[in-house]
Amino acid sequence: MQPTPQSDPGFERWPPEVKPEPPQWPTPDWPHTIARGIAGRCPCCNAAPIFDGYLKVYEKCRHCGAPLGDMPADDAPPYIAMLAVLHVVALFIFLFYKGVFVPGFIMAGILLVLLVLLCMVALRMAKGAVIGILLKLGMRRERVREPKDESR
Ligand SMILES: [Zn+2]
Repeated sequence: MQPTPQSDPGFERWPPEVKPEPPQWPTPDWPHTIARGIAGRCPCCNAAPIFDGYLKVYEKCRHCGAPLGDMPADDAPPYIAMLAVLHVVALFIFLFYKGVFVPGFIMAGILLVLLVLLCMVALRMAKGAVIGILLKLGMRRERVREPKDESR
């Protein structure tokens, strides 16, 4: 007869039961976290900006110390920004091919500049929101550490 897991001292449950660590920084509820990120404010405290410039993120929040720079936003913000902006572009393309809206040369140039500005604003807002989401989920970037020198 096989031993039950409870009676076997060598039994190891897989995956091991690990209690998730509570985050060391205060996180509000989801709507507040995302709204603060979209507004470019720290998702935790709303008292300091996320961005140091256009898209450069502060390593830590200047007010509460939340690790904003450790959030691996990577390719998600451009994807979200394109998804949002291209819906607006699709409307203009639809109207153009239906013959409802045929812009002249100057109007097309103005719309192109507006499109670029819209992309830039949407990218910044999406990056703030993604950083807020990652901060709420506690998904920090893995840091590559130097191996410890144990010969000393
Ligand atoms: Zn903060």
